[in-house]
Amino acid sequence: MFKDVVDFIRELYHTEEFIPLHVPRFIGNEKKYLVECIDTTFVSSVGKFVDKFEEMTEQYTGSKKAVVCVNGTEALHMALMLSGVKAGDEVITQPITFVATANAISYTGAHPVFIDVDMDTMGLSPFSVEDFLVDFGAMRNDGFCYNKISGNRISACVPMHTFGHPVKIEALVKICEKYNIALVEDAAESIGSKYKGKHTGTFGKFGIISYNGNKTITTGGGGMILTNDEELGNLAKHLTTQAKIPHPWEYAHDYIGYNYRMPNINAALGVAQMESLDTFIEKKREIAAMYKSFFDSKGIHFFSEPEDCYSNYWLNAIILNSKIERDQFLEFTNANGVMTRPIWKLMNRLSIFNNNNYNDLSNAGWLEERVVNLPSSYRL
Ligand SMILES: *Cc1c(COP(=O)(O)O)cnc(C)c1O
Repeated sequence: MFKDVVDFIRELYHTEEFIPLHVPRFIGNEKKYLVECIDTTFVSSVGKFVDKFEEMTEQYTGSKKAVVCVNGTEALHMALMLSGVKAGDEVITQPITFVATANAISYTGAHPVFIDVDMDTMGLSPFSVEDFLVDFGAMRNDGFCYNKISGNRISACVPMHTFGHPVKIEALVKICEKYNIALVEDAAESIGSKYKGKHTGTFGKFGIISYNGNKTITTGGGGMILTNDEELGNLAKHLTTQAKIPHPWEYAHDYIGYNYRMPNINAALGVAQMESLDTFIEKKREIAAMYKSFFDSKGIHFFSEPEDCYSNYWLNAIILNSKIERDQFLEFTNANGVMTRPIWKLMNRLSIFNNNNYNDLSNAGWLEERVVNLPSSYRL
């Protein structure tokens, strides 16, 4: 049975060589734009590709402002700071995520609080968030929500669109509005993914995208901050570029700024990758459809996009019957040169975050034992 899977994936990618999980593809103007950076010497913090990349992202996502950043993790850090998250606060997020989500929360001095995911999205469950807030949340006279037990303010909520599949974001928007909690979407994995036709990362106060080398499109390393609040967007730009007050020759700064800017040479890659993005997603969805019909025929659960959603299928995933079966699958496929991997270890199980959950995480625990990612690169 597992041999059939390996054979199918080998056929899919037409190769007898090692098949990685996800690799970058450069099929367009990447080389041309990189050479242009070198020829013009604009490789660093100034250059036209930075502006172009932001404009293209605004147009593509429908976000009012897009601000490039050195990577997705720091983009999230900045978004949380600008959402008013302070040291000692609690920030709601999901236990199923890449560690960067919880790390970025920790950079602000706040504590992540892990709330369960939905089975049909693998992302933060609005029902569980509401349960948590009904049990533990209390509005105070300052207009903010506090945890009745710990006394900490609950200042933000960070859902993550797992493997590119959108969470139930509309319901989360409603809950966050009700409790005056800033919604910051970790859309690191979901460029091109939409909920009811609207791009992920554009529902909350902020959203962030990652362009790490294993994501759907890459700038080598990079990230983007999305916001519909123009003022906050401008402030994000200012703070990520050392908070220098614009002036022809004087160096003056009005905030403790950050050097989170993306070099022009990376943005050049980003512009070229954006030009190919729709092609990438179309082809990734084709691969997902082929996986689905194969796994349907084998009686294995292939994870499909949730209702009302359009997913980029960044990483394809199957759900096996048990941890034992999962481990056998991982052993067999990896031993046979097809890279597969389990979903992340739950954040609340990491020693660095293990005191931070209040309620039942049984969906996340169930998925943790059974979900496996499959090779998902764009096929040449
Ligand atoms: C990739 C990723 C990030 C971090 O992005 P970098 O650009 O690598 O810093 C954050 N959150 C999630 C869920 C990711 O998958």
